[in-house]
Amino acid sequence: MAALAASSSMAKLPAEILFEISVRVKATAATPKDLLPCVFVSKRWKAAFSSVLYGNIAVTDAVLGIFLDRLNVDEYGSCIRSLTVHLTSARADIELRLTQLSEKMHKFTKLLSFSFRQDVKCHMSIPTSCFKLIVESLPNTCVNLELDTNSHNTSNTTKINDHVCESIHRILPRMEHLRLRLSKICSSLFIDKADRLQPVDPDFRLLPNIKSLVICCFAPWGARTGVCYEFRLGWPEVTKTLENLLEMDPGVPRDSYIYMLTDGIEPHLQHHYRQMSTVIRADMINKESWAIPCATPRNHEGPERSLVRLPNGAEVVTNTAGIESLAEDQLWLNAIGGARIPAAVLKAEIQGNTSFASGCIEASLDLVPIEHSSERVQLEKESWWKAEERVGAKIFDAEKRSGPYYLSTAPIVQMLPSGWAWNFLGTAVRV
Ligand SMILES: [Zn+2]
Repeated sequence: MAALAASSSMAKLPAEILFEISVRVKATAATPKDLLPCVFVSKRWKAAFSSVLYGNIAVTDAVLGIFLDRLNVDEYGSCIRSLTVHLTSARADIELRLTQLSEKMHKFTKLLSFSFRQDVKCHMSIPTSCFKLIVESLPNTCVNLELDTNSHNTSNTTKINDHVCESIHRILPRMEHLRLRLSKICSSLFIDKADRLQPVDPDFRLLPNIKSLVICCFAPWGARTGVCYEFRLGWPEVTKTLENLLEMDPGVPRDSYIYMLTDGIEPHLQHHYRQMSTVIRADMINKESWAIPCATPRNHEGPERSLVRLPNGAEVVTNTAGIESLAEDQLWLNAIGGARIPAAVLKAEIQGNTSFASGCIEASLDLVPIEHSSERVQLEKESWWKAEERVGAKIFDAEKRSGPYYLSTAPIVQMLPSGWAWNFLGTAVRV
């Protein structure tokens, strides 16, 4: 009798409460599968839980095929708000699967965010034409996009127009959060085919809705983004075009984050031994940049982790993904379960505001303060650590660059305080 009363009162629950329950269940569920039994309770439960169960889909290459083959797109396609595809290993059918995905994309009628990410260790070249298909198939509702091939995608340079830039250019006006790392890019991201920064219609705005735009021009395996069809670095061309666009277009929101990233490119051979591995984040709106130094302990066993000195003064030890995320100011975040969500959206969700990331929880970065890290013992053996102990000060730190130097790609160089110099053995001595 009590069970009957309970089930009838459950049946009367308002839709909003039922939805709230589904969000809480998802937030505490070990895997999305835990929500499945709820779908079978009743039609109302099915509707409420489907939107949370299918709301933010994250698939790796291992299950992309199953997802595409088994998803009932007609019934559940409209429940998908964000879709993340994570390529972790080389897979012969990935090109076919991405093409199939682009064919189904129009069924995801409420899609707000799409992310493709390729692991740095997955050395598989996917033709750029695949990403062109994906971008062109995104429904008009999709206003957040991440394409990160870790510079592994390849273009068929003999085929003109085999680049994704023009396709991204066409969807820029609706974009809110955009993050790109491709092997090649060019100014047609921001300039239309007729080579105009400004279109014929003076009221046209290219980035009226942008909240964050991140273009990463390097990959941890040493690749640097090039220019489509040319053997030149992408960084100078795209920073210049973006700079011109921001000067000419008053419609770009001034409170948006428009960041270009590169690694430090060796400028001075004589400082070769004193250069730090450096990630540079240029803030294109405010015309200033932060150069962030990383020190990797030599002879450390286990996965590679580095000490990073951050603009806020913090010193942390983290992995490659952590360095990149911190350098990019964490504008895109990982949710538990694998979904990639713009940070602003995930933070709104965490604060209890309405967002498409219902039930998503931020996955923490692999990040340890230097004083608690197991790498500290190895770092203490580095020559720079000993030099810092000797002089009693940091000899490298995050650097803020502004004025004519804000687009400098110079790496950070270890600098002794005045009154100190390096002797021929590489030891800091008083002079
Ligand atoms: Zn291009």
